[in-house]
Amino acid sequence: MKLVDAHCHFDFSRFDGCRADELQAAASAGIVGLVIPGVRRRDWGRIRDTAKAYPGLFYCLGIHPWFVSEHTSDDLDALEQLLSARPERCVAVGECGLDRLHGDLAVQYPWFEAQVGLASKFGFPLIIHSVKTHDEVCAILRCCKGSIKALLHGFSGSYQQAANLVDQGCFIGVGGVITHPGARKTRDTIARLPVEALVLETDAPDMAPEGVAAGQNSPVQLLRILECLAEIRGERAEYLASVLFANTEALYGRSLW
Ligand SMILES: [Zn+2]
Repeated sequence: MKLVDAHCHFDFSRFDGCRADELQAAASAGIVGLVIPGVRRRDWGRIRDTAKAYPGLFYCLGIHPWFVSEHTSDDLDALEQLLSARPERCVAVGECGLDRLHGDLAVQYPWFEAQVGLASKFGFPLIIHSVKTHDEVCAILRCCKGSIKALLHGFSGSYQQAANLVDQGCFIGVGGVITHPGARKTRDTIARLPVEALVLETDAPDMAPEGVAAGQNSPVQLLRILECLAEIRGERAEYLASVLFANTEALYGRSLW
C-alpha cells in the first residue's frame, strides 16, 4: 500500500528535531511522501529547504488568507518569478483561498484571484483553503472553466457543495475531520462522493484526528484517516489506497513517488 499525505505543514516547528523519526514512522505505515503547502512569503525558503532535505517531499508556494495583510504586491511579483522558474520539488500554488471566520473576505479576494491566475498561467495545480466560502470558491473556479486542477483541502461541508466543486475539477481533501463521530455532515458527504474525487491529507500539525491532542497531529495519522474512510464508505482500505494514490498523482504529477 502506497499513501501520500497531500497536505502537511511539515516545516512547522512542531516537527523540529523529529522529522526523520516522523518520516520513518510514516514510511512503516505505507506513507511514501508528503506535500508541504506555503502560507506566507517569509516561510517559503524554509518550506523549500524542508522538502529538499528528504526524499518524497514536495512543496507549494502561496499566500494563505490568514496572512494576506502582511504581504504587498511585491510578494505576488516574487511569487510569479519563483513559479516561472519552476523550482525543483515545487508542485503547486497555495495554500490560498478564502476564510469567512478569519479576517475580511473583501481583503482576501484579490489575493486568492491573483493566485488562481498564477496557477492558470503556469499550469500549476492550486491548493485551496476554504472556510464557509465553498460557493464563492466554486464561482471563481467556474470562471477558469476547468482549466486548472485544484485541491479543496481539509474539506468540511455539505454534499451539494462538494459535488459542485468536483464538477469544477476540484479534488476533495479528506482529513482528520472524518474521524470525529460528531462531524456527521462531512462524514456523510465523503461517503457519497465519487472515489475519483478524493485525496488523503493530515494538515498536520493541525486538524487533529479524534484522540490526538490539538496541534499534535502528524503524517503517520494518514493511515488512521484511510481506515476511517474505508469504514464510512464500506470499501476496502487497500482498494481506496490505490485509487487515492492515483488521484494524488493526477493532482500533483505522475511518478513523483
Ligand atoms: Zn493547511
